[in-house]
Amino acid sequence: MAFTCAPGKHRRPGRMQRTTARAAGVAALTTTGVMATVAATPALAAEPSPEQTGLIPVVTASEAVAEQVDDQVAVQKHAAFEEAARQAAAKKAVEEREARVRAAREAERKRLNTFVSPITGSYVSTSYQASSSLWSSGSHTGIDFHASSGTTVHAVGLGTVVEAGWGGAYGNQIVIKMNDGTYTQYGHLSSIEVSVGQQVTPGQRIALSGATGNVTGAHLHFEARTTAEYGSDIDPVAYLRNHGVNI
Ligand SMILES: [Zn+2]
Repeated sequence: MAFTCAPGKHRRPGRMQRTTARAAGVAALTTTGVMATVAATPALAAEPSPEQTGLIPVVTASEAVAEQVDDQVAVQKHAAFEEAARQAAAKKAVEEREARVRAAREAERKRLNTFVSPITGSYVSTSYQASSSLWSSGSHTGIDFHASSGTTVHAVGLGTVVEAGWGGAYGNQIVIKMNDGTYTQYGHLSSIEVSVGQQVTPGQRIALSGATGNVTGAHLHFEARTTAEYGSDIDPVAYLRNHGVNI
């Protein structure tokens, strides 16, 4: 019979062989730390020795151990999954917080670079370089904003106060050195609410308008200058418009 299989070949592995393979798997897990727990289980410790009982009880014990190991592996896998999920959530929270900080910083940077009108909702009542005997130069060195006495005066942009006090014909005045190196001046004030050296931000209330100094009525005199000194004036309307103010 040429096609008879040789005995012992092509047969399903016996129970002992399968169990041995599984037990080998158990042994392979020792590096994960699982084996330490397995070795301590009373079921295994209490099992009779092979010498006493033969192989079958050992096989049973090995299967029980293998099931325990399977359970523990499943628990560890679940724990690892949860830890990964927790770390991903924490990373996302950090990234979201950083994005909020960046957005706030950018918004603040934009705000500080924005210019505003010194009198909200007002208009220019006397233009730049208008001529009148009222001014010592014979020509207006700034612009006048219509404003009744006691109207809030705002810093037009970010800067530092370099003068705050009596300014002769300008009455009570404030001069601010702007962050771009130019200067702005606010005259005829009824009250001054900042002091020299103080930093001011765009739109910050710095004074109340009035009619102090050489005036015929209440208004805000506003100048833009290239230096802190009288005479270095530039067109305030062009200055404000160049800085994005709609007047
Ligand atoms: Zn004026």
